[in-house]
Amino acid sequence: MNGMLQRWEEVRARIAAATARAGRPADAVRLVAVSKTHPAGAVAELFSCGQADFGESRVQELLAKAPTLPSAVRWHFIGHLQKNKIRKILPLACLIHGVDSAALAGEIDRVADEGGLFPEVLLEVNVSGEATKFGFQPEALRRELDGLLRLPRIQVTGLMTMAPYAEDPEKARPTFVALRELREALAAEFGIRLDVLSMGMSGDYEVAIEEGATLVRVGTAIFGARPTAEA
Ligand SMILES: *Cc1c(COP(=O)(O)O)cnc(C)c1O
Repeated sequence: MNGMLQRWEEVRARIAAATARAGRPADAVRLVAVSKTHPAGAVAELFSCGQADFGESRVQELLAKAPTLPSAVRWHFIGHLQKNKIRKILPLACLIHGVDSAALAGEIDRVADEGGLFPEVLLEVNVSGEATKFGFQPEALRRELDGLLRLPRIQVTGLMTMAPYAEDPEKARPTFVALRELREALAAEFGIRLDVLSMGMSGDYEVAIEEGATLVRVGTAIFGARPTAEA
């Protein structure tokens, strides 16, 4: 087995162990392999081994890769989506993880209407309060959510966050707990389901699973390091 397949097996084993440790069903967590900056050939190889979900954060890169790969690949758009790129991403992505403003949600809804689509989206929340991060502040999301839920086309199925970078994965735990608690509070207040929690990356996905992640976005631990400018 080559290095990438070995690392992928290792990540899958760790996901299974963390899921069991948390007393969650074995299928509670889905792995999104973050293939940004890595060649389409690597995606093809993992897909042939059974990895179905892949994450990309750049529109141009996804547009270049997707047509060369089987149409059964499930693409997750995990980057910061610019409004003028929505039209290109909607037909390709099975899930848009980073909807971080009411204006973006409204524009996705408008473009989806033109295309007759009902895109599934996650709302990105900046629970850690880091100034450098995209995402709704929790209180702003509470104010905006009613309007977002009224948009006829977009399907809001959950929340997404990124923990501040830290060597020690335990440092990410409060961020993941905060996202889960926000999900529980909003679901109760608005009488909705927000089943999907997209949280956890290479350095902290096991902690995220212990705190309720249903999607983990793992790149480096599978594909190896990216060129630093892209990190
Ligand atoms: C790049 C990226 C990841 C994957 O990061 P790794 O540390 O390589 O696992 C996850 N989520 C988002 C939003 C990203 O941009």
